Amino acid sequence: MALALVLNSGSSSIKFQLVNPENHATDEPFASGLVEQIGEPIGRIVLKVEGEKHVLEAPIPDHSAGLKLAFDLMDQHNCGPSQVDIVAVGHRVVHGGILFSAPELITDEIVEMIRDLIPLAPLHNPANIDGIEVARKILPDVPHVAVFDTGFFHSLPPAAALYAINSEVAAEYGVRRYGFHGTSHEYVSQRTAEILEKPAIDLNIITCHLGNGASMAAVEGGRAVDTSMGMTPLAGLVMGTRTGDIDPGVVFHLARNAGMSIDEIDNLMNKKSGVKGLSGVNDFRELRQMIDEGDQDAWSAYNVYIHQLRRYLGSYMIALGRVDVIVFTAGVGENAQFVREDALAGLEMYGIKVDPERNALPNEGPRLISTDDSKIKVYVIPTNEELAIARYAVKFAKA
Ligand code: ADP
Repeated sequence: MALALVLNSGSSSIKFQLVNPENHATDEPFASGLVEQIGEPIGRIVLKVEGEKHVLEAPIPDHSAGLKLAFDLMDQHNCGPSQVDIVAVGHRVVHGGILFSAPELITDEIVEMIRDLIPLAPLHNPANIDGIEVARKILPDVPHVAVFDTGFFHSLPPAAALYAINSEVAAEYGVRRYGFHGTSHEYVSQRTAEILEKPAIDLNIITCHLGNGASMAAVEGGRAVDTSMGMTPLAGLVMGTRTGDIDPGVVFHLARNAGMSIDEIDNLMNKKSGVKGLSGVNDFRELRQMIDEGDQDAWSAYNVYIHQLRRYLGSYMIALGRVDVIVFTAGVGENAQFVREDALAGLEMYGIKVDPERNALPNEGPRLISTDDSKIKVYVIPTNEELAIARYAVKFAKA
């Protein structure tokens, strides 16, 4: 079986999967794992294969050591590079700036281009480059492919991409909307066209990727024309721990009056805000339980979340003019039926009617949740970014 190795390298972790590109989105990967606490005194590697979990604890000084130890652990459990047929490696790269609109076969030159984009993603792109360099050394004979989180949004028209900030400053520092989660928005919008058996060019779709990070996109005829995340993944919807849109004046206020440094404000807005900042939890199962038990903060956090989602929904309906399909995906979008119900409640006059029974179906694959007479169809389509990256990667193996 030809497999793709998919790597998602963070600043102190590496997520990896061995994926059969022929899988469905809800299939388990052949193997998956996580290297974490890189750089700390004791690191940890978890490998899941054939329903079993294997854990290794050891010092992991850097990404190179982490990936080598992960390969050793895979070898011990018969899924190492010498035992399975890895035909390509797909690397998730967070920021492609305005340079990359599509996945690229990685060469030394491409690595340098990704390096040039570090100022736009100072935490993510260096880790992505580490992962690429180490993996190219360990697996030198297969194609390595960079798949950019921003790529699908390269097509944003200037009206959606530009911020109303001084244009010289914007040009010098790359200040504009790039958008993220592109692999997921592209994947579910393409799946929608396949399911409806219509060419993508004939469909206008609003995609809602609601996971711990969350974003929405307006997709017109297969092309992204707007999205809620911005120059960074902090903008847009309320998220698990991120603020989403907030008055930029708040940053100045906190810096001037709370004595907070820029790094402290960054940490506050990315890690201690969003649903968690308002309620104390960021998992929607816990949030739901707290609401059911009468917790007022949980209720208020939920309402802020839904209100913001509906704001974006309204603006994308106007931006697109005609909407054929609304798609929900990712952890919350696929599983939290109450979020879908509340996000679309009372919109019958706009042609949106959710069927409560269809909306309550378990998350076992793509499904229609609107009524037969709903003018706009509403679907839940499970996403799988690793599978999408694996498919891009193996295309280069075949070429
Ligand atoms: P990430 O952005 O980390 O990839 P996911 O797309 O995996 O996130 O989504 C994770 C989130 O999905 C969890 O934090 C939780 O809020 C939500 N979630 C997962 N399963 C359920 C469920 N059964 N019901 C409600 N929410 C769920």
